[in-house]
Amino acid sequence: MSTGKHNSIKSLTGKKAYIQNCLNIWNNTCTWSKKQAASCRSVCQNFLSRIKPLWTEKTKRLFFSGAVSCSVIAVVCMVLVCTCSIGCELTVNGQVIGIMRNQAEYTDLIEKINHEIAYVTHGDFTPGGEPEFSACILAKNKFTAEDDMKERLKATSQSMIPAYGVLVDHEMIFALPNEDAALSVLSNYKNSFLEGKENGTASFCQEVTVSHCFVPKAALKTEETALSALQKGRMEMYQLAQGESLDAVCAQFNIDVDELLQNNVIKDINHPTPGALIIPTGKPLISVKTQETLTAKEVIPYNTVEEEDASLYEGSLIVKQQGSDGLKVVEASVTAINGIETKRDILSESLLTAAVDHVVQKGTKELPKATGTGMAVPAKGTLTSRFGSRWGRNHNGIDMSASIGTKIYAADSGTVTYSQFNDGGYGYLIKIDHSNGLETLYAHCSELLVPAGTVVAKGDVIAKVGNSGRSTGPHLHFEVRLNGKPIDPMTYLTGLN
Ligand SMILES: [Zn+2]
Repeated sequence: MSTGKHNSIKSLTGKKAYIQNCLNIWNNTCTWSKKQAASCRSVCQNFLSRIKPLWTEKTKRLFFSGAVSCSVIAVVCMVLVCTCSIGCELTVNGQVIGIMRNQAEYTDLIEKINHEIAYVTHGDFTPGGEPEFSACILAKNKFTAEDDMKERLKATSQSMIPAYGVLVDHEMIFALPNEDAALSVLSNYKNSFLEGKENGTASFCQEVTVSHCFVPKAALKTEETALSALQKGRMEMYQLAQGESLDAVCAQFNIDVDELLQNNVIKDINHPTPGALIIPTGKPLISVKTQETLTAKEVIPYNTVEEEDASLYEGSLIVKQQGSDGLKVVEASVTAINGIETKRDILSESLLTAAVDHVVQKGTKELPKATGTGMAVPAKGTLTSRFGSRWGRNHNGIDMSASIGTKIYAADSGTVTYSQFNDGGYGYLIKIDHSNGLETLYAHCSELLVPAGTVVAKGDVIAKVGNSGRSTGPHLHFEVRLNGKPIDPMTYLTGLN
């Protein structure tokens, strides 16, 4: 087929028409004329016949080997991407420390080391030489562990030594030269909380571990100093500013100046040198929880019960039944943290003695209003002895002779404060407080009718005449005291001469 015809068809229909026509031929639905279709077919055949000679065995091999190579390269690339990482190798003094993701991680590493050793230094760690960085390829994400990097980096420094660090929640508190010493200190500290506890158990509240590491020389302790550090508690560093007083620091941390002086060298308390101060915070470095089962006798306190009594005047409080505490045996599981009890679970209780209620009678009857007519004569009888000097000493009251069993009346309203036998010579005695500095006494009675605590009205019967105590015959010895001092009852008594 000539190029001219091809061009003419191409100009007539365009590229799209060709394609569409080829499809039409394929589908036997061609709308072209036979001439146009034949022309199209010949163009296609012409193209194929030109291509065919080029498709030799050599080109086939070239084509397939090229394809295979591309696939292999692609696969290798995929494998590399999936299994390898690019890292940054850190060396110090020619010694490989490890591989990090990038150079920026080095600064983080130094910061973390400084933080770790801050408990003994002021964050001034420098490795034993200049750090050098170089790019490298490594197995996917097989970067050196941070802890390993830190330890290797520390090992390059002359100021660090190998030791066994005690870590509390991953934070180092101090180090000892060997593992046994570190474990022994921890064990001794824990067991110190079990002193006096026969069946107690102790455990640390935080995660406490011992690990091999490089530490600043100053961090190394002996077993003795390590135990003492645990007992003293957490120390904090504080930078004392120029002109800042120790009192202000003590107030800030709620400690005594003495505690500050024990942990720091301070030459002049009034003018301390600015700089680092060690502050004992009193907070434990490690908290220890103990648990023990305790069996102890425990007092059961009695209850006080008040019973209202309408037959008694208001203000009367009379003990009807003396209360007494009970006793029980209590078995409890006691939990303490750092020696301070935090929880007590009662396991069992057994009663030894029950408590007895303290019963008090409380008066509700209204007290008659005071008449203001002085005191009433306390008994019907004969006045046989007056107040004043008698037989070389003072007679503190008056005596009224009467037969045994004669009623004795309250000379005025008040509260009975004493109603019992008196060893001092008064025998059966009643005392009434009249709440105005005055007090009356009724001695040598045969019978007491009101207990202590009773509020009595003027003229109430309170006792009976007798001959008890130091007495020479049945009579009432009656006293009036003003602010504790005996005075002549005749000053107050009306109707008696
Ligand atoms: Zn007398």
